[in-house]
Amino acid sequence: KSRKHVPPGQIRVCVAVRKRPINEREKATRDHDAVTTMNPRVAVHACKLRVDGITKYLENQMFEFDHTFGDADDTRSVYHYTVQPLVALMFKRGGRGTCFAYGQTGSGKTYTMTRIQDFVARDIFRLQASAEHSRSGLQVHLTMFEIYGGRCSDLLHDRAPVTIREDGAGKVQTVGLTPVRCDDEAALIAAVEAGNESRTTHATAMNEVSSRSHSICEVMTTDDAGNVVGSLTLIDLAGSERAADRSSHNRQRRMESAEINKSLLALKECIRAMDSGSSHVPFRASKLTLALKDNFTARGSRTVMIAAVSPAASSADHTQNTLRYAERVK
Ligand code: ADP
Ligand code: MG
Repeated sequence: KSRKHVPPGQIRVCVAVRKRPINEREKATRDHDAVTTMNPRVAVHACKLRVDGITKYLENQMFEFDHTFGDADDTRSVYHYTVQPLVALMFKRGGRGTCFAYGQTGSGKTYTMTRIQDFVARDIFRLQASAEHSRSGLQVHLTMFEIYGGRCSDLLHDRAPVTIREDGAGKVQTVGLTPVRCDDEAALIAAVEAGNESRTTHATAMNEVSSRSHSICEVMTTDDAGNVVGSLTLIDLAGSERAADRSSHNRQRRMESAEINKSLLALKECIRAMDSGSSHVPFRASKLTLALKDNFTARGSRTVMIAAVSPAASSADHTQNTLRYAERVK
């Protein structure tokens, strides 16, 4: 699909790739770097790898996106080209910005999203204090919840259960999800950190739940009447390799995998429908997409997908799957 005719900053769906650096453990096992980024392209080099005890040969593959980031790029520049343009949307009535981090476990989703959260906190309050918005009286609120195995819990309120449903008028309600008011950058950062902490503490206790759960962090501006004006939602998705892991001997794992698979497929379809301006967005297909109905259907909505990839040759098949998924969304 050619975007040449779309003015920059007008793209409703922006797709970027971030490759993390190779780490010491990978170096120690003589794994090697099989991924090269040349913005806006990314190449996965031909390599041989073992998958489930079978040797597989992968061919060279080249993909093109809106942006690709490699070892030399820090989160500041990832943020600048992806999420930063969405922050201003929060101050426009009906503005809905959404950013997804997609990729296999260990590819850098959480690393990228937690750092982006800090930049967002800084920029929201800078904008709020700017001449244009200082007298608008808008307040900033935060909600954070996790979807795990089809169940939702409020990360800012001791994992209180949250129910997501559509009312008769087609409005999505998140019952049990309580917004927290944040009056400045420090308060917002502290609240977000508490939410992230709640996720990781639980994950450790429950054997790495974080790789099998989606976390949804929404910052919104509200007016005097308490109505939401605009919002920005940052989503750290479940590890994409979990969607394929359906051969587990553990029934619970198989069900989780099926659930993740369903939500990641639904997400792809919703983003594609939104991008093509289709009036039918299949958001009812999963909890995740139902919760994000507004983000896909509001007139002022824009979406960013950051596909996180590992450089390791041993992960090259997951990397190719991630890039194919991202290509379908583009
Ligand atoms: P995921 O959330 O996708 O499972 P993480 O964000 O937890 O992956 O990253 C896995 C590991 O790689 C962590 O130790 C993290 O600190 C490190 N890492 C990820 N991305 C980067 C990066 N861009 N630069 C340096 N280290 C990174
Ligand atoms: Mg993570």
